[in-house]
Amino acid sequence: MIFDHDVLVIGAGLAGMRSALEAARSGADVAIVSKVHPVRSHSNAAQGGINAALGEGDSWESHAFDTVKGSDYLADQDAVEVMCQEAPGDIIEFEHMGCIFYRNEDGRLGTRAFGGASQARTYFVGDITGQALLITLYDQILKAGVKVYEEWFATAFYVEDGACAGAVALELITGELHLLRAKAVIDGAGGVGRLYEPSTNALICTGDGYALAYRAGAALADMCMVQYHPTTLAGSGFLMTEAARGEGAYLLDKNGDRFLKKYAPTKMELAARDVISRAETLEIAAGNGIDGNVLLDSRHLGPDVILKKLPQIHEMALDYLGIDMIKAPVPVRPGMHYMMGGVKTDIDGATKVPGLYAAGEVACVSVHGGNRLGANSLLDTIVFGRRSGKAAAAYAKSVERPRGGSALLRSEQERLSALLARPYKGETHAKVRLDLATMMDRYVGVYRDDEGLRKALEELKRLRRRYEDVAVGDKGRVFNQALQFVLELGFLLDCAEPVIREALMRTESRGAHARTDYPERNDAEWLKHVLFTYRGPDAEPGVSYMPVTITRWKPEVRSY
Ligand SMILES: Cc1cc2nc3c(=O)[nH]c(=O)nc-3n(C[C@H](O)[C@H](O)[C@H](O)COP(=O)(O)OP(=O)(O)OC[C@H]3O[C@@H](n4cnc5c(N)ncnc54)[C@H](O)[C@@H]3O)c2cc1C
Repeated sequence: MIFDHDVLVIGAGLAGMRSALEAARSGADVAIVSKVHPVRSHSNAAQGGINAALGEGDSWESHAFDTVKGSDYLADQDAVEVMCQEAPGDIIEFEHMGCIFYRNEDGRLGTRAFGGASQARTYFVGDITGQALLITLYDQILKAGVKVYEEWFATAFYVEDGACAGAVALELITGELHLLRAKAVIDGAGGVGRLYEPSTNALICTGDGYALAYRAGAALADMCMVQYHPTTLAGSGFLMTEAARGEGAYLLDKNGDRFLKKYAPTKMELAARDVISRAETLEIAAGNGIDGNVLLDSRHLGPDVILKKLPQIHEMALDYLGIDMIKAPVPVRPGMHYMMGGVKTDIDGATKVPGLYAAGEVACVSVHGGNRLGANSLLDTIVFGRRSGKAAAAYAKSVERPRGGSALLRSEQERLSALLARPYKGETHAKVRLDLATMMDRYVGVYRDDEGLRKALEELKRLRRRYEDVAVGDKGRVFNQALQFVLELGFLLDCAEPVIREALMRTESRGAHARTDYPERNDAEWLKHVLFTYRGPDAEPGVSYMPVTITRWKPEVRSY
């Protein structure tokens, strides 16, 4: 079937729903396509909180400086200024919409400390902040009359006369493909955590939005900037929120020493994430860990703080490792967590493809540069979700309704039928994905070098060939998850290439990109964004550069 709307949003996480709400408020007829029920989006898993300079003695300039320093000076400072200036208003609006943040003894909004921040400016709801924000927004979009195509899976963007004009999506419950046309499309399809193993991300974070936009002509920027979170639970890779360290927890080596004194003597456990993940990796490699982990020790916080402010991670450690954080330290290690890079946009979410906007983790505005500060991502989704919703609705008013698209619908139908018809030759999506993700962790993880990255590129070619042989185990139509996994693996493979290529090209160390063969930051050559454009499945991507926008903070040596 064919459906028409003014604005089509892909994704019902915080970015997607915030943009949909704003577009609807601007008078547009808005629809959202989401492969899961909206409140199952990965935003739901966000624990620690959301940043804003709202408190007495704090200022947006201080928040902006911390963000720029955290980014290792790769963030665009005009975008950072917008985000930090608008943050307080967005927090207050969420309170007004019904999201009840934690209050201190005086009844005022209370904060907690987070890494890389010079002030405690993280607002939170226990350790379920993402869920609280997401549910609030879901209520709001239903009230605003936004149509939700729930459990529909976007397989391709529709481009008409050079402008993005909708998407083809698979209705999972029936297996039917549909064309959704729109005057403007907002890509809010979230991150690409499953490109790595281990990762803190949900299984649905497969980079669909990067690949869909890339294939439709948008550029991907800063893709080598992949964040490893310092505290993921041993064994499972589940996130142990930074809020634990924000509340005062220590990181210890096997001798019980707070090893960060060697790496970040001033900020210690609250240094930026890239700094701590590198420190842990070095300590573990030097034999100072325990079975490949270090210890997160919260015992001194006492049961009250742990049970009231960190209840979810307390339960997780108990359920998965049988460890009670009140009584014993928990083994943790760095795990892939977040993608700083993404679909290049301006501060209103516009990409280089007319009619295509992007917001949230999938986008690169860029406010995180080489390393994101904790609790700045939820903020990014809200501020730039709102801005792109407004801009997309305004753009939609200025253009005609698209009319075509049935040829794309047919070719997508043929592509999926061909996938379903592939004979089984012993290759499965699960094996290829695991090999891809462990390969990325090994060669394109916390530390990188020329030799490993070249191996990664070669290995990626082999994985792509193997992907051609992956058969879909389930030949049915209803809820064919096997088909969805195979399509997602195709998106992951597209995302891997720019990550590896930029990591190889960028002969310096900056933020999360640490090259053992080029350990210094090199502003003379690399204070710039690297952008990739898609040139077909078998061609090398196009490469271009963009200068970093510097408004008031000149690059300095970064220490914590
Ligand atoms: C465990 C964890 C904890 C975190 N904690 C914090 C924190 O405390 N503070 C902070 O600032 N950040 C945190 N982050 C990061 C932050 O939560 C995410 O970056 C942010 O929520 C991403 O929001 P989003 O709206 O961009 O995407 P998501 O919430 O991931 O939503 C993506 C949406 O896109 C849809 N979608 C994807 N592909 C398709 C497709 N092909 N077709 C249709 N729909 C599709 C999905 O259904 C989903 O609705 C955390 C991340 C994780 C993983």
